[in-house]
Amino acid sequence: MSEDFSNSPELRITEIFYSLQGETTLSGLPTVFIRLTGCPLRCQYCDTAYAFKGGIKMPLEKILDKARSYSTQNICVTGGEPLAQPNCLILLKQLADLGKTISLETSGALPIDQVDPRVIIILDIKTPDSLESHRNYLENLKFLKKTDQIKFVICSKQDYEFSKNFIQENKLINFCEILFSPSYTQINPADLAAWILEDQLQVRLQIQLHKVLWGDKTGV
Ligand code: SF4
Repeated sequence: MSEDFSNSPELRITEIFYSLQGETTLSGLPTVFIRLTGCPLRCQYCDTAYAFKGGIKMPLEKILDKARSYSTQNICVTGGEPLAQPNCLILLKQLADLGKTISLETSGALPIDQVDPRVIIILDIKTPDSLESHRNYLENLKFLKKTDQIKFVICSKQDYEFSKNFIQENKLINFCEILFSPSYTQINPADLAAWILEDQLQVRLQIQLHKVLWGDKTGV
């Protein structure tokens, strides 16, 4: 007999796949990715525009079943912008109830205050050259935990200076992990490395591991 999911909340899902985490301090670890459909932003460098629309509606229970079917300890909820779907908060709570390491990748444009505290939040701060920096919802900084991570995707020297000033003005350096990520093909990662070292900036340079391994391929 097939299971009855009629009372389960639904989410619109672009894909669920198993791969290596390519970013953050969890980089390199086998991870289940749950990619939610939809995003209210349009960053110029976006590599997941295919998640803006479409997807399929899935009952929460079915998403949990699929996530549980892999033996990995790591589950990442990503998008699109996952928090654009209100049921994402229930999903995150129930994933955390599985006792696994749950991370959430979010644009930083929507409130994070209702996210289950067991979830590691990877919060973007959008830089000027993303063309979406006016969407940064700065109230979110109040709700970050020490276990969360702040990510800047850097497209230019101007973006680097913006990011450096942002973390200094908001005293973020010793608060939680800061990730500086070169925008794929838009900036030489070695230049970014040189600026970080020159300024003795205590941030983590991250290169997107999945791009190194598989280029622009989706679902990896
Ligand atoms: S927030 Fe993320 S998914 Fe949305 S447009 Fe920007 S990079 Fe793409």
